[in-house]
Amino acid sequence: MSFADLGLSPELLQSVTAAGYTEPTPIQAQAIPSVLMMRDLIGIAQTGTGKTASFVLPMIDVLAHGRRRALMPRSLILEPTRELAAQVAENFEKYGVNHDLKMALLIGGVQMGDQVKALGEGVDVLIATPGRLMDLFERGKILLTGCNLLVIDEADRMLDMGFIPDIETICSKLPATRQTLLFSATMPAPIKKLADKFLTNPKYIEVARPASNNEQIAQHKVRVTARAKRELLRSLLRSEDVSTAIIFCNRKTTVRELAKSLKGSGFAAGEIHGDMDQPSRLAELDRFKAGTINLLVASDVAARGLDIKGVSHIFNFDTPWHPDDYVHRIGRTGRAGATGRAFTFITPDDAEAIASIEKLTGTVIPEVTIEGGAAEDAPRREPRKRPERPVREASAPREARPPREASPPREARPPREASPPREEHTAARESHPPRQHQPRRTAPAPRPEAESDGWNGPVPDFLGFSAAG
Ligand code: AMP
Repeated sequence: MSFADLGLSPELLQSVTAAGYTEPTPIQAQAIPSVLMMRDLIGIAQTGTGKTASFVLPMIDVLAHGRRRALMPRSLILEPTRELAAQVAENFEKYGVNHDLKMALLIGGVQMGDQVKALGEGVDVLIATPGRLMDLFERGKILLTGCNLLVIDEADRMLDMGFIPDIETICSKLPATRQTLLFSATMPAPIKKLADKFLTNPKYIEVARPASNNEQIAQHKVRVTARAKRELLRSLLRSEDVSTAIIFCNRKTTVRELAKSLKGSGFAAGEIHGDMDQPSRLAELDRFKAGTINLLVASDVAARGLDIKGVSHIFNFDTPWHPDDYVHRIGRTGRAGATGRAFTFITPDDAEAIASIEKLTGTVIPEVTIEGGAAEDAPRREPRKRPERPVREASAPREARPPREASPPREARPPREASPPREEHTAARESHPPRQHQPRRTAPAPRPEAESDGWNGPVPDFLGFSAAG
C-alpha cells in the first residue's frame, strides 16, 4: 500500500514524500479514503500511530476548493491541550505547503487579539482548545455556521479534562449536515454517547496501541535504591549508545536537581518542567531539537504530547505513579518506525506502581542488572504476556528504604504541577473523581495536562504571533 493508492492529490503526495514518509501507517491507510469520501469516522488510535496525518492529509484535499469567509472557519479541529493544537497546526504547515489554506490557532497563552485578527481575515482551518473557543464564541467573535468539517481529537482526554459539555455545545452550533471525525485512545461510555449523538453512520477504525504493542521499544526495569539512582543513570548513559534521551522524574524538584547534577558530571543536559516560564521551556526544547543538548530531564506534564523525533532512550528515573504516564513516557521513543530503549528505575517502594504498569500493558517488563556499567538482561527475555499470577517484587528491608523524595505515601503526593490556566483548569489531577469511580478502561488513556503556565510545544510560524502573553 502506498500513499498514491489512497486518493490524495498529486500536490499532497509531493508533501508526503517531502516529509519522508514512504508508506501510510495502518490508521492512515484506513482513514484517508473515508475522509476523502466525506464519511464520518471514529478512529481508536493513540498518538504515535500517525493519526494526525490521517485526518490532516485528507482535510487539506477536502478544503482545497472553497471560499474563506470572515469569522466563519470552514473546518474546526478540537484538541485538549495547547501543545497538541500547535502540533496539529505544524502538521498543516508541513503537509499544506502546496496549498493555499489559512489556519488559525485558538489556544490559551497567546494574545487573543492576534487570534481574532486571523479569524477576521477568514480561515479554512481553525485549531482550538475548547476553553478558548468557547470564550471567543461567547463574545460573538466567531461563527460556527459555516463549519462543515469537525475533528474531535483525543476525545477521552477531553473527557478527563471535563470538556465534554463544551464539546456538546460546540457541536450544536455547527451545521447539522457536516462531516465529523472523532479520535480517541479508548472508548469510555461518555465518548460512545457523544459519538452516537453527533456522528452519522461513522466508519469505525481501531489500530493497535503503540505502547503496549510496540515492539520497537525494548523495555527494561532496573532495581536500584533511591540513593544509587544517579550513579546508575550516569553509568547507563555512558554504557548505552545514547544519542538522545528524555529522563523522566516524578517531581519538578527532582528534574531541577538531576539536570544540575548531570551537567556537573559533564553531560549535555537540559530540563523542562512546569515551573519554567514559557520562553525558557521553548528555548530548552529548541536546544534539544537542535542537538545542543542530548539529554532532556523532564516532568510528565512538560513532556506530554511532545513529538521529538529520534529519541533513542527513555529513562524513568522515577517509576511513574500512574501507569498511563508510563505509556506516555516510553511513547517518546520508538516513534513511527524508529527503535528505542526504555529503562525504568524501580526502588523497593515502587512495587505497587510497577505492578500496575505491567498489569495495564499486559507484559512483564524484563529486568536487567547493571554489571560494570553495562545493561545485561537478567535473564535475557523478550516482553511476554503476563503470567496468571502477578509478579511479586521483593520487598526491601526498612533501612533500605529511599529518602522521602523517592516515593511518598499516596495521599502526600503533591499535585503534578501548579494551578492550570482556564482551559486546563478542570484538568488538575486532584479534581478527578477517584479512579475507581471512573469508567473502566480497556487501554491507557492519556492523562490530562495540568500545565501551570505557558505552553511548551512548538510555535507554528504561520500566524506570526508571539506565543508569550
Ligand atoms: P502522530 O500519531 O500523529 O502523533 O504521529 C507520530 C509521528 O509519526 C509523527 O512524528 C509523524 O511525523 C510520524 N508519521 C506520521 N505518518 C507517518 C508515516 N506514514 N511514515 C512515517 N512517519 C509518520
